[in-house]
Amino acid sequence: MAVTTTTHTQDLLRRLGVEDDNPGAFDGSWIETRGERIESVNPATGEVLAAVRSAGPEDYERVARAAVAAFGAWREWPAPKRGEVVRQLGDELRRHKGDLGALVSLEAGKIRSEGLGEVQEMIDMCDLAVGMSRQLYGKAMHSERPRHRMYEQWHPLGPVGIITAFNFPVAVWAWNAAVAAACGDSMIWKPSHETPLTALAVTRIAARVLEANDAPAIFGLVVADREVGQLMTADRRLPLVSATGSVTMGKAVGRAVADRVGRSLLELGGNNGVVVTESADMDLALRAVLFAAFGTAGQRCTTARRLFLQRGIAAEMKERLVKAARSIPIGDPMAEGVMMGPLINRKAVDTMMSALETIREQGGEVLCGGKRLDRPGFFVEPTVVAAEVQMPITCEETFAPILYVFEFDDLDEAIAAHNAVPQGLSSAIFTLNVREAERFLAATGSDCGIANVNIATSGAEIGGAFGGEKETGGGREAGSDSWKIYMRRQTCTINWGTEMPLAQGVEFDVGA
Ligand code: NAD
Repeated sequence: MAVTTTTHTQDLLRRLGVEDDNPGAFDGSWIETRGERIESVNPATGEVLAAVRSAGPEDYERVARAAVAAFGAWREWPAPKRGEVVRQLGDELRRHKGDLGALVSLEAGKIRSEGLGEVQEMIDMCDLAVGMSRQLYGKAMHSERPRHRMYEQWHPLGPVGIITAFNFPVAVWAWNAAVAAACGDSMIWKPSHETPLTALAVTRIAARVLEANDAPAIFGLVVADREVGQLMTADRRLPLVSATGSVTMGKAVGRAVADRVGRSLLELGGNNGVVVTESADMDLALRAVLFAAFGTAGQRCTTARRLFLQRGIAAEMKERLVKAARSIPIGDPMAEGVMMGPLINRKAVDTMMSALETIREQGGEVLCGGKRLDRPGFFVEPTVVAAEVQMPITCEETFAPILYVFEFDDLDEAIAAHNAVPQGLSSAIFTLNVREAERFLAATGSDCGIANVNIATSGAEIGGAFGGEKETGGGREAGSDSWKIYMRRQTCTINWGTEMPLAQGVEFDVGA
Protein backbone atom coordinates (compact mmCIF):
# COMPACT_ATOMS: atom_id res chain seq x y z
CA MET A 1 0.00 0.00 0.00
CA ALA A 2 1.20 3.53 -0.68
CA VAL A 3 1.76 6.03 2.08
CA THR A 4 -1.50 7.94 2.54
CA THR A 5 -0.82 10.64 5.08
CA THR A 6 -1.86 14.28 4.96
CA THR A 7 0.70 17.03 4.38
CA HIS A 8 0.44 17.98 8.04
CA THR A 9 1.38 14.46 9.15
CA GLN A 10 4.15 14.26 6.56
CA ASP A 11 5.64 17.50 7.86
CA LEU A 12 5.61 16.07 11.36
CA LEU A 13 7.30 12.86 10.20
CA ARG A 14 9.95 14.78 8.27
CA ARG A 15 10.76 16.93 11.30
CA LEU A 16 11.48 13.68 13.13
CA GLY A 17 13.58 12.35 10.24
CA VAL A 18 11.02 9.76 9.10
CA GLU A 19 10.66 9.33 5.31
CA ASP A 20 7.99 7.40 3.37
CA ASP A 21 10.37 4.43 3.23
CA ASN A 22 13.00 3.94 5.91
CA PRO A 23 15.90 1.64 6.73
CA GLY A 24 15.28 -0.64 9.68
CA ALA A 25 18.64 -0.95 11.43
CA PHE A 26 21.14 1.40 13.05
CA ASP A 27 24.64 0.56 14.24
CA GLY A 28 26.02 4.10 14.35
CA SER A 29 25.02 4.51 10.69
CA TRP A 30 21.70 3.61 9.07
CA ILE A 31 21.90 0.23 7.37
CA GLU A 32 20.14 -0.32 4.01
CA THR A 33 18.01 -3.22 5.21
CA ARG A 34 16.26 -5.33 2.58
CA GLY A 35 13.76 -7.40 4.58
CA GLU A 36 9.99 -7.32 4.56
CA ARG A 37 8.42 -3.86 4.10
CA ILE A 38 6.59 -3.14 7.34
CA GLU A 39 3.86 -0.55 6.98
CA SER A 40 3.07 1.50 10.01
CA VAL A 41 -0.67 2.12 10.11
CA ASN A 42 -2.50 4.84 11.99
CA PRO A 43 -5.02 2.79 13.99
CA ALA A 44 -7.46 5.71 14.10
CA THR A 45 -7.80 5.92 10.31
CA GLY A 46 -6.25 2.83 8.75
CA GLU A 47 -3.94 5.11 6.73
CA VAL A 48 -0.32 4.10 6.14
CA LEU A 49 1.98 6.59 7.85
CA ALA A 50 5.27 5.32 6.43
CA ALA A 51 7.12 2.05 5.91
CA VAL A 52 10.28 0.44 7.24
CA ARG A 53 12.37 -2.32 5.65
CA SER A 54 12.92 -4.88 8.35
CA ALA A 55 16.39 -6.07 9.31
CA GLY A 56 17.61 -9.55 8.46
CA PRO A 57 20.09 -11.79 10.31
CA GLU A 58 23.13 -10.19 8.62
CA ASP A 59 21.91 -6.71 9.61
CA TYR A 60 21.47 -7.94 13.17
CA GLU A 61 25.04 -9.24 13.11
CA ARG A 62 26.34 -5.79 12.12
CA VAL A 63 24.36 -4.12 14.87
CA ALA A 64 25.49 -6.69 17.46
CA ARG A 65 29.15 -6.24 16.55
CA ALA A 66 28.80 -2.48 16.78
CA ALA A 67 27.12 -2.84 20.18
CA VAL A 68 30.02 -4.94 21.45
CA ALA A 69 32.55 -2.38 20.18
CA ALA A 70 30.55 0.54 21.63
CA PHE A 71 30.36 -1.19 25.00
CA GLY A 72 34.13 -1.64 25.04
CA ALA A 73 34.62 2.11 24.81
CA TRP A 74 31.57 3.37 26.75
CA ARG A 75 32.33 1.35 29.89
CA GLU A 76 35.52 3.38 30.27
CA TRP A 77 33.67 6.67 30.39
CA PRO A 78 33.27 7.75 34.02
CA ALA A 79 29.67 7.21 35.09
CA PRO A 80 28.92 10.92 35.72
CA LYS A 81 30.21 11.71 32.20
CA ARG A 82 27.84 9.07 30.86
CA GLY A 83 25.14 10.74 32.94
CA GLU A 84 25.91 14.04 31.24
CA VAL A 85 25.17 12.45 27.85
CA VAL A 86 21.90 11.09 29.24
CA ARG A 87 21.08 14.59 30.53
CA GLN A 88 21.51 15.93 27.02
CA LEU A 89 19.31 13.15 25.68
CA GLY A 90 16.60 14.36 28.09
CA ASP A 91 17.04 17.92 26.79
CA GLU A 92 16.81 16.81 23.18
CA LEU A 93 13.63 14.88 24.00
CA ARG A 94 12.24 18.03 25.64
CA ARG A 95 12.85 19.88 22.38
CA HIS A 96 10.98 17.24 20.39
CA LYS A 97 8.29 16.45 22.94
CA GLY A 98 5.42 17.91 20.89
CA ASP A 99 6.30 16.11 17.67
CA LEU A 100 7.32 12.83 19.26
CA GLY A 101 4.19 12.82 21.44
CA ALA A 102 2.08 13.39 18.32
CA LEU A 103 3.82 10.49 16.57
CA VAL A 104 3.05 8.22 19.54
CA SER A 105 -0.63 9.23 19.15
CA LEU A 106 -0.57 8.66 15.41
CA GLU A 107 1.18 5.32 15.52
CA ALA A 108 -0.12 3.78 18.77
CA GLY A 109 -3.52 5.52 18.94
CA LYS A 110 -2.96 7.12 22.34
CA ILE A 111 -4.86 10.30 23.11
CA ARG A 112 -2.82 13.50 22.85
CA SER A 113 -2.12 13.91 26.58
CA GLU A 114 -0.99 10.29 26.82
CA GLY A 115 1.27 10.63 23.77
CA LEU A 116 2.89 13.65 25.36
CA GLY A 117 2.90 11.90 28.74
CA GLU A 118 4.86 9.06 27.27
CA VAL A 119 7.59 11.40 26.06
CA GLN A 120 7.52 13.12 29.45
CA GLU A 121 8.17 9.71 30.98
CA MET A 122 11.27 9.38 28.79
CA ILE A 123 12.46 12.80 29.93
CA ASP A 124 11.81 11.89 33.57
CA MET A 125 13.76 8.67 33.09
CA CYS A 126 16.71 10.63 31.74
CA ASP A 127 16.62 12.97 34.76
CA LEU A 128 16.48 9.99 37.10
CA ALA A 129 19.36 8.24 35.33
CA VAL A 130 21.53 11.37 35.50
CA GLY A 131 21.19 11.24 39.29
CA MET A 132 21.82 7.51 39.29
CA SER A 133 25.07 8.03 37.41
CA ARG A 134 26.54 9.49 40.61
CA GLN A 135 24.88 6.98 42.90
CA LEU A 136 25.80 3.53 41.59
CA TYR A 137 26.73 2.65 45.14
CA GLY A 138 28.38 -0.48 46.38
CA LYS A 139 28.67 -1.41 50.06
CA ALA A 140 31.80 -1.62 52.16
CA MET A 141 31.86 -4.53 54.62
CA HIS A 142 34.02 -5.36 57.62
CA SER A 143 36.30 -8.27 56.90
CA GLU A 144 36.64 -11.06 59.49
CA ARG A 145 40.36 -11.12 58.71
CA PRO A 146 42.77 -8.56 60.19
CA ARG A 147 44.15 -5.89 57.85
CA HIS A 148 41.71 -6.83 55.14
CA ARG A 149 39.17 -4.61 53.48
CA MET A 150 36.04 -5.81 51.69
CA TYR A 151 33.73 -3.96 49.43
CA GLU A 152 31.50 -4.48 46.45
CA GLN A 153 31.51 -2.47 43.27
CA TRP A 154 29.27 -2.33 40.25
CA HIS A 155 30.70 -2.50 36.75
CA PRO A 156 28.99 -2.05 33.39
CA LEU A 157 27.44 -5.33 32.26
CA GLY A 158 27.64 -5.43 28.47
CA PRO A 159 25.40 -4.87 25.45
CA VAL A 160 21.75 -5.18 26.48
CA GLY A 161 18.92 -6.46 24.26
CA ILE A 162 15.75 -4.42 24.63
CA ILE A 163 12.50 -5.85 23.25
CA THR A 164 9.50 -3.54 23.56
CA ALA A 165 5.72 -3.82 23.17
CA PHE A 166 3.50 -1.60 21.00
CA ASN A 167 1.56 -0.01 23.82
CA PHE A 168 4.44 1.96 25.33
CA PRO A 169 6.43 2.33 22.14
CA VAL A 170 9.01 4.76 23.50
CA ALA A 171 8.71 4.99 27.31
CA VAL A 172 9.77 1.37 27.83
CA TRP A 173 12.87 1.96 25.73
CA ALA A 174 13.71 4.91 27.98
CA TRP A 175 13.12 2.91 31.18
CA ASN A 176 15.86 0.62 29.94
CA ALA A 177 18.03 2.84 27.79
CA ALA A 178 18.48 5.83 30.12
CA VAL A 179 19.50 3.59 33.01
CA ALA A 180 21.57 1.17 30.93
CA ALA A 181 23.46 4.10 29.37
CA ALA A 182 24.23 5.61 32.78
CA CYS A 183 25.36 2.16 33.92
CA GLY A 184 27.86 1.94 31.04
CA ASP A 185 26.05 -0.49 28.74
CA SER A 186 25.41 -0.34 25.02
CA MET A 187 22.13 -1.70 23.70
CA ILE A 188 20.17 -3.08 20.78
CA TRP A 189 16.50 -2.15 20.60
CA LYS A 190 13.96 -4.35 18.88
CA PRO A 191 10.69 -2.40 18.90
CA SER A 192 7.25 -3.79 18.13
CA HIS A 193 6.26 -4.30 14.47
CA GLU A 194 3.29 -2.05 15.15
CA THR A 195 5.34 0.99 16.15
CA PRO A 196 8.59 1.16 14.18
CA LEU A 197 8.38 4.88 13.36
CA THR A 198 8.55 6.10 16.94
CA ALA A 199 11.61 3.86 17.34
CA LEU A 200 13.27 5.39 14.27
CA ALA A 201 12.53 8.91 15.47
CA VAL A 202 13.90 8.23 18.96
CA THR A 203 17.02 6.54 17.58
CA ARG A 204 17.70 9.58 15.36
CA ILE A 205 17.40 11.89 18.37
CA ALA A 206 19.61 9.68 20.52
CA ALA A 207 22.22 9.30 17.76
CA ARG A 208 22.52 13.08 17.42
CA VAL A 209 23.26 13.39 21.13
CA LEU A 210 25.94 10.70 20.94
CA GLU A 211 27.55 12.36 17.93
CA ALA A 212 27.60 15.76 19.60
CA ASN A 213 29.52 14.19 22.47
CA ASP A 214 31.83 12.00 20.39
CA ALA A 215 30.37 9.10 22.29
CA PRO A 216 30.35 5.51 21.03
CA ALA A 217 27.21 4.32 19.20
CA ILE A 218 25.54 2.73 22.22
CA PHE A 219 21.96 3.03 20.94
CA GLY A 220 21.55 0.32 18.28
CA LEU A 221 18.26 -0.54 16.58
CA VAL A 222 16.82 -3.46 14.64
CA VAL A 223 13.27 -3.31 13.33
CA ALA A 224 12.83 -6.98 12.70
CA ASP A 225 10.61 -10.01 12.88
CA ARG A 226 10.51 -12.68 15.51
CA GLU A 227 13.32 -14.65 13.83
CA VAL A 228 15.78 -11.82 14.44
CA GLY A 229 14.28 -11.42 17.92
CA GLN A 230 15.23 -15.03 18.52
CA LEU A 231 18.79 -14.43 17.29
CA MET A 232 18.96 -11.67 19.87
CA THR A 233 17.69 -13.77 22.77
CA ALA A 234 20.14 -16.56 21.89
CA ASP A 235 23.09 -14.17 21.49
CA ARG A 236 25.74 -14.80 24.17
CA ARG A 237 27.19 -11.35 23.53
CA LEU A 238 24.14 -9.88 25.27
CA PRO A 239 24.40 -10.71 28.97
CA LEU A 240 20.96 -9.16 29.58
CA VAL A 241 17.78 -9.22 27.54
CA SER A 242 15.03 -6.96 28.79
CA ALA A 243 11.72 -7.95 27.24
CA THR A 244 8.35 -6.25 27.60
CA GLY A 245 5.26 -7.86 26.13
CA SER A 246 2.84 -10.73 26.48
CA VAL A 247 3.32 -13.70 28.78
CA THR A 248 3.65 -15.96 25.74
CA MET A 249 6.55 -13.87 24.45
CA GLY A 250 8.13 -13.71 27.92
CA LYS A 251 8.07 -17.48 28.31
CA ALA A 252 9.83 -17.91 24.95
CA VAL A 253 12.39 -15.20 25.66
CA GLY A 254 12.95 -16.37 29.24
CA ARG A 255 13.59 -19.94 28.06
CA ALA A 256 15.99 -18.88 25.29
CA VAL A 257 18.01 -16.61 27.59
CA ALA A 258 18.06 -19.20 30.40
CA ASP A 259 19.31 -21.80 27.94
CA ARG A 260 22.57 -19.83 27.62
CA VAL A 261 22.44 -18.92 31.32
CA GLY A 262 21.97 -15.25 30.51
CA ARG A 263 20.03 -12.72 32.50
CA SER A 264 16.51 -11.72 31.52
CA LEU A 265 14.34 -8.89 32.76
CA LEU A 266 10.74 -9.76 31.99
CA GLU A 267 7.90 -7.22 32.05
CA LEU A 268 4.86 -9.18 30.94
CA GLY A 269 1.10 -9.09 30.96
CA GLY A 270 -1.09 -8.08 33.86
CA ASN A 271 -4.65 -8.81 34.94
CA ASN A 272 -5.01 -6.06 37.45
CA GLY A 273 -7.66 -5.88 40.14
CA VAL A 274 -9.25 -3.04 42.08
CA VAL A 275 -11.08 -3.71 45.35
CA VAL A 276 -13.67 -1.16 46.47
CA THR A 277 -15.02 -1.56 49.98
CA GLU A 278 -18.13 -0.04 51.52
CA SER A 279 -16.02 2.53 53.33
CA ALA A 280 -14.50 3.93 50.11
CA ASP A 281 -14.88 7.43 48.73
CA MET A 282 -17.13 6.38 45.85
CA ASP A 283 -16.55 9.43 43.69
CA LEU A 284 -12.79 8.98 43.90
CA ALA A 285 -13.05 5.26 43.20
CA LEU A 286 -15.28 5.79 40.20
CA ARG A 287 -13.05 8.40 38.59
CA ALA A 288 -9.95 6.32 39.17
CA VAL A 289 -11.46 3.09 37.85
CA LEU A 290 -12.73 4.78 34.70
CA PHE A 291 -9.25 5.93 33.74
CA ALA A 292 -7.61 2.66 34.76
CA ALA A 293 -10.11 0.50 32.85
CA PHE A 294 -10.75 2.53 29.71
CA GLY A 295 -7.82 4.94 29.41
CA THR A 296 -5.46 3.92 26.58
CA ALA A 297 -8.47 1.89 25.33
CA GLY A 298 -7.64 -0.78 27.90
CA GLN A 299 -4.21 -1.34 26.34
CA ARG A 300 -1.94 -0.80 29.32
CA CYS A 301 -0.19 -3.61 31.12
CA THR A 302 -1.58 -1.95 34.26
CA THR A 303 -5.15 -1.54 32.94
CA ALA A 304 -7.77 -2.41 35.57
CA ARG A 305 -9.48 -5.51 34.24
CA ARG A 306 -11.16 -6.83 37.40
CA LEU A 307 -13.25 -4.75 39.81
CA PHE A 308 -14.29 -6.22 43.16
CA LEU A 309 -17.21 -4.36 44.74
CA GLN A 310 -18.40 -4.97 48.28
CA ARG A 311 -22.04 -6.03 48.25
CA GLY A 312 -23.50 -2.91 49.93
CA ILE A 313 -22.19 -0.51 47.28
CA ALA A 314 -22.16 -2.83 44.27
CA ALA A 315 -25.48 -1.89 42.70
CA GLU A 316 -24.88 1.86 42.90
CA MET A 317 -21.29 1.61 41.69
CA LYS A 318 -22.25 -0.57 38.73
CA GLU A 319 -24.98 1.82 37.71
CA ARG A 320 -22.68 4.84 37.90
CA LEU A 321 -19.88 2.99 36.15
CA VAL A 322 -22.08 1.95 33.23
CA LYS A 323 -23.46 5.47 32.87
CA ALA A 324 -19.97 6.98 32.90
CA ALA A 325 -18.53 4.35 30.52
CA ARG A 326 -21.27 5.13 28.00
CA SER A 327 -20.35 8.81 28.10
CA ILE A 328 -16.61 8.41 27.35
CA PRO A 329 -15.80 10.43 24.22
CA ILE A 330 -14.29 8.00 21.68
CA GLY A 331 -12.59 9.11 18.49
CA ASP A 332 -9.51 10.55 16.84
CA PRO A 333 -6.89 10.47 19.60
CA MET A 334 -5.42 13.74 18.32
CA ALA A 335 -8.75 15.58 18.73
CA GLU A 336 -9.47 17.81 21.68
CA GLY A 337 -11.72 16.23 24.31
CA VAL A 338 -11.36 12.63 23.11
CA MET A 339 -10.66 10.26 26.02
CA MET A 340 -10.48 6.93 24.24
CA GLY A 341 -8.74 6.17 20.96
CA PRO A 342 -8.65 2.97 18.89
CA LEU A 343 -7.23 -0.47 19.52
CA ILE A 344 -3.90 -1.06 17.80
CA ASN A 345 -5.15 -3.13 14.83
CA ARG A 346 -8.00 -5.18 13.41
CA LYS A 347 -6.72 -8.35 15.08
CA ALA A 348 -7.03 -6.69 18.49
CA VAL A 349 -10.67 -5.83 17.71
CA ASP A 350 -11.35 -9.41 16.59
CA THR A 351 -9.69 -10.76 19.74
CA MET A 352 -11.95 -8.54 21.87
CA MET A 353 -15.08 -9.68 19.99
CA SER A 354 -14.13 -13.31 20.35
CA ALA A 355 -13.43 -12.78 24.08
CA LEU A 356 -16.94 -11.34 24.41
CA GLU A 357 -18.41 -14.47 22.85
CA THR A 358 -16.51 -16.58 25.37
CA ILE A 359 -17.65 -14.28 28.19
CA ARG A 360 -21.28 -14.83 27.24
CA GLU A 361 -20.75 -18.60 26.91
CA GLN A 362 -19.22 -18.67 30.40
CA GLY A 363 -22.21 -16.81 31.89
CA GLY A 364 -20.98 -13.20 31.93
CA GLU A 365 -23.49 -10.41 31.39
CA VAL A 366 -22.45 -7.46 29.24
CA LEU A 367 -23.78 -4.40 31.09
CA CYS A 368 -22.63 -1.90 28.48
CA GLY A 369 -20.47 -1.69 25.36
CA GLY A 370 -19.26 -4.81 23.64
CA LYS A 371 -19.38 -3.59 20.06
CA ARG A 372 -16.92 -2.44 17.42
CA LEU A 373 -17.64 1.01 16.04
CA ASP A 374 -18.71 1.35 12.44
CA ARG A 375 -16.10 3.86 11.27
CA PRO A 376 -12.60 3.75 9.79
CA GLY A 377 -9.89 2.63 12.18
CA PHE A 378 -10.10 0.08 14.97
CA PHE A 379 -12.53 1.46 17.51
CA VAL A 380 -14.53 -0.42 20.12
CA GLU A 381 -16.84 0.50 22.98
CA PRO A 382 -15.74 0.51 26.61
CA THR A 383 -17.29 -2.60 28.05
CA VAL A 384 -18.46 -3.52 31.54
CA VAL A 385 -19.25 -7.16 32.31
CA ALA A 386 -20.96 -8.58 35.39
CA ALA A 387 -18.84 -11.67 35.99
CA GLU A 388 -18.19 -14.53 38.42
CA VAL A 389 -14.69 -15.37 39.60
CA GLN A 390 -15.16 -18.95 38.38
CA MET A 391 -15.26 -17.78 34.73
CA PRO A 392 -11.93 -18.98 33.26
CA ILE A 393 -11.67 -16.03 30.87
CA THR A 394 -11.37 -13.61 33.79
CA CYS A 395 -7.98 -15.19 34.52
CA GLU A 396 -6.68 -14.12 31.10
CA GLU A 397 -5.46 -10.74 29.93
CA THR A 398 -7.63 -9.66 27.00
CA PHE A 399 -5.82 -6.55 25.79
CA ALA A 400 -8.95 -4.45 25.30
CA PRO A 401 -11.31 -2.23 27.33
CA ILE A 402 -13.29 -4.95 29.08
CA LEU A 403 -13.84 -4.55 32.82
CA TYR A 404 -15.12 -7.55 34.80
CA VAL A 405 -17.13 -6.63 37.88
CA PHE A 406 -17.45 -9.05 40.80
CA GLU A 407 -19.23 -8.71 44.14
CA PHE A 408 -17.89 -9.78 47.54
CA ASP A 409 -18.96 -9.84 51.17
CA ASP A 410 -15.76 -9.64 53.18
CA LEU A 411 -12.27 -8.42 52.38
CA ASP A 412 -10.52 -11.76 52.90
CA GLU A 413 -12.74 -13.25 50.22
CA ALA A 414 -11.98 -10.34 47.87
CA ILE A 415 -8.22 -10.64 48.41
CA ALA A 416 -8.31 -14.39 47.80
CA ALA A 417 -10.22 -13.87 44.54
CA HIS A 418 -7.99 -10.97 43.59
CA ASN A 419 -4.86 -13.12 43.95
CA ALA A 420 -6.31 -16.17 42.20
CA VAL A 421 -5.03 -15.31 38.71
CA PRO A 422 -1.69 -16.22 37.13
CA GLN A 423 -0.55 -12.60 36.67
CA GLY A 424 0.69 -10.26 39.43
CA LEU A 425 1.40 -6.78 38.13
CA SER A 426 -0.69 -3.99 39.68
CA SER A 427 -3.45 -3.85 42.29
CA ALA A 428 -5.45 -1.34 44.27
CA ILE A 429 -7.87 -0.92 47.11
CA PHE A 430 -10.28 1.96 47.64
CA THR A 431 -11.12 2.38 51.31
CA LEU A 432 -11.05 5.04 54.00
CA ASN A 433 -10.58 2.36 56.66
CA VAL A 434 -6.95 2.05 57.73
CA ARG A 435 -7.34 -1.58 58.76
CA GLU A 436 -8.65 -2.55 55.35
CA ALA A 437 -5.87 -0.61 53.62
CA GLU A 438 -3.16 -2.25 55.72
CA ARG A 439 -4.74 -5.68 55.31
CA PHE A 440 -4.44 -5.23 51.53
CA LEU A 441 -0.80 -4.13 51.77
CA ALA A 442 0.23 -6.83 54.26
CA ALA A 443 2.21 -9.96 53.36
CA THR A 444 -1.12 -11.80 53.24
CA GLY A 445 -2.69 -9.12 51.04
CA SER A 446 -2.16 -8.29 47.38
CA ASP A 447 0.43 -10.53 45.71
CA CYS A 448 1.33 -7.99 43.03
CA GLY A 449 4.48 -5.98 42.33
CA ILE A 450 2.44 -2.79 42.70
CA ALA A 451 -0.19 -2.23 45.39
CA ASN A 452 -2.00 1.10 45.76
CA VAL A 453 -4.46 2.65 48.16
CA ASN A 454 -7.03 5.09 46.77
CA ILE A 455 -5.16 5.18 43.46
CA ALA A 456 -6.10 2.74 40.73
CA THR A 457 -3.78 0.31 38.99
CA SER A 458 -2.42 2.34 36.09
CA GLY A 459 -0.25 5.44 35.82
CA ALA A 460 2.84 4.47 37.81
CA GLU A 461 5.56 7.01 38.57
CA ILE A 462 9.09 6.28 37.46
CA GLY A 463 10.67 6.84 40.90
CA GLY A 464 9.58 3.41 42.11
CA ALA A 465 10.66 0.03 40.80
CA PHE A 466 8.09 -1.04 38.21
CA GLY A 467 7.13 -4.65 37.53
CA GLY A 468 5.13 -7.62 38.71
CA GLU A 469 5.17 -11.11 40.13
CA LYS A 470 4.08 -14.56 38.93
CA GLU A 471 3.51 -14.70 35.15
CA THR A 472 4.17 -10.97 34.90
CA GLY A 473 7.79 -12.05 35.02
CA GLY A 474 9.37 -10.70 38.20
CA GLY A 475 11.40 -7.97 36.44
CA ARG A 476 11.79 -4.47 37.85
CA GLU A 477 12.58 -1.37 35.85
CA ALA A 478 12.84 2.40 36.30
CA GLY A 479 13.47 3.75 39.81
CA SER A 480 14.65 2.53 43.22
CA ASP A 481 17.56 0.10 42.81
CA SER A 482 16.40 -1.29 39.45
CA TRP A 483 19.71 -0.13 37.94
CA LYS A 484 21.45 -3.11 39.50
CA ILE A 485 20.26 -5.52 36.83
CA TYR A 486 22.14 -3.47 34.19
CA MET A 487 25.46 -3.91 36.02
CA ARG A 488 27.63 -6.70 37.32
CA ARG A 489 28.45 -6.84 40.99
CA GLN A 490 31.99 -7.53 42.04
CA THR A 491 32.99 -8.33 45.59
CA CYS A 492 36.57 -7.28 46.32
CA THR A 493 38.78 -8.20 49.24
CA ILE A 494 42.13 -6.47 49.75
CA ASN A 495 44.80 -7.76 52.10
CA TRP A 496 46.98 -4.84 53.14
CA GLY A 497 48.85 -6.78 55.86
CA THR A 498 51.79 -9.19 55.85
CA GLU A 499 49.90 -12.34 56.95
CA MET A 500 47.60 -14.51 54.88
CA PRO A 501 44.78 -15.59 57.20
CA LEU A 502 42.06 -17.69 55.57
CA ALA A 503 38.34 -17.15 56.11
CA GLN A 504 36.43 -19.42 58.51
CA GLY A 505 39.68 -20.18 60.36
CA VAL A 506 40.89 -22.59 57.69
CA GLU A 507 44.62 -23.38 57.96
CA PHE A 508 46.88 -24.29 55.06
CA ASP A 509 50.49 -23.84 56.18
CA VAL A 510 52.78 -25.71 53.81
CA GLY A 511 55.85 -23.78 54.86
CA ALA A 512 56.51 -22.13 51.48
P1 NAD B 1 3.94 -9.06 22.21
O1 NAD B 1 4.31 -10.09 23.21
O2 NAD B 1 3.12 -9.50 21.04
O3 NAD B 1 5.24 -8.38 21.57
C1 NAD B 1 6.18 -7.69 22.39
C2 NAD B 1 7.53 -7.68 21.71
O4 NAD B 1 8.09 -9.00 21.76
C3 NAD B 1 7.51 -7.28 20.24
O5 NAD B 1 8.63 -6.47 19.98
C4 NAD B 1 7.62 -8.63 19.54
O6 NAD B 1 8.14 -8.52 18.24
C5 NAD B 1 8.56 -9.36 20.45
N1 NAD B 1 8.54 -10.84 20.40
C6 NAD B 1 7.46 -11.65 20.37
N2 NAD B 1 7.86 -12.94 20.42
C7 NAD B 1 9.22 -12.94 20.50
C8 NAD B 1 10.22 -13.97 20.59
N3 NAD B 1 9.90 -15.26 20.61
N4 NAD B 1 11.51 -13.58 20.68
C9 NAD B 1 11.86 -12.28 20.68
N5 NAD B 1 10.96 -11.28 20.58
C10 NAD B 1 9.66 -11.60 20.50
O7 NAD B 1 3.20 -7.88 23.01
P2 NAD B 1 2.42 -6.61 22.46
O8 NAD B 1 1.13 -7.04 21.87
O9 NAD B 1 3.34 -5.76 21.65
O10 NAD B 1 2.15 -5.79 23.82
C11 NAD B 1 1.11 -6.06 24.70
C12 NAD B 1 1.57 -6.93 25.86
O11 NAD B 1 2.68 -6.34 26.52
C13 NAD B 1 0.50 -7.07 26.92
O12 NAD B 1 0.50 -8.39 27.39
C14 NAD B 1 0.95 -6.11 28.01
O13 NAD B 1 0.45 -6.39 29.29
C15 NAD B 1 2.43 -6.28 27.93
N6 NAD B 1 3.15 -5.14 28.52
C16 NAD B 1 3.75 -5.32 29.74
C17 NAD B 1 4.38 -4.26 30.34
C18 NAD B 1 5.03 -4.41 31.70
O14 NAD B 1 5.81 -3.54 32.05
N7 NAD B 1 4.75 -5.44 32.46
C19 NAD B 1 4.44 -3.01 29.71
C20 NAD B 1 3.83 -2.88 28.46
C21 NAD B 1 3.19 -3.97 27.88
